[in-house]
Amino acid sequence: MDCLFCKIISGEIPGKKIYEDEKVYAFYDINPQAPVHFLVVPKEHIKSCNELTPENAEIIGHIFLVIAKIAKDLGLEKGYRIVNNCGEDGGQTVDHIHFHVLGGKPLSWPPL
Ligand code: AMP
Ligand code: ZN
Repeated sequence: MDCLFCKIISGEIPGKKIYEDEKVYAFYDINPQAPVHFLVVPKEHIKSCNELTPENAEIIGHIFLVIAKIAKDLGLEKGYRIVNNCGEDGGQTVDHIHFHVLGGKPLSWPPL
């Protein structure tokens, strides 16, 4: 499958890995938008939030638990933001569902 994040997970394309288990993979974003900016993705190729089903959605809870663990390990005690871009209008550029985690400074809101 011609998917950038599947290739990073398999090691075909190098990524700056932070964490991996049997279900998820986390790595630093190549174009960071905050002092700390990493991505957490399921190893299973799911295109976007729109392709979640009762059968595969359990992974999302696991991803949030992993995010909290990594955020603690990286010293984000003051907080962080989790972002999922879904589809064209949502700004999704890689069609493998992923959660951005941004932190390391106070973040502005709204993001538009
Ligand atoms: P999105 O726009 O939500 O689909 O996010 C895709 C993210 O992937 C962007 O923040 C990119 O900077 C990031 N990205 C693209 N290529 C790579 C790569 N090779 N390694 C790490 N992150 C990447
Ligand atoms: Zn993929």
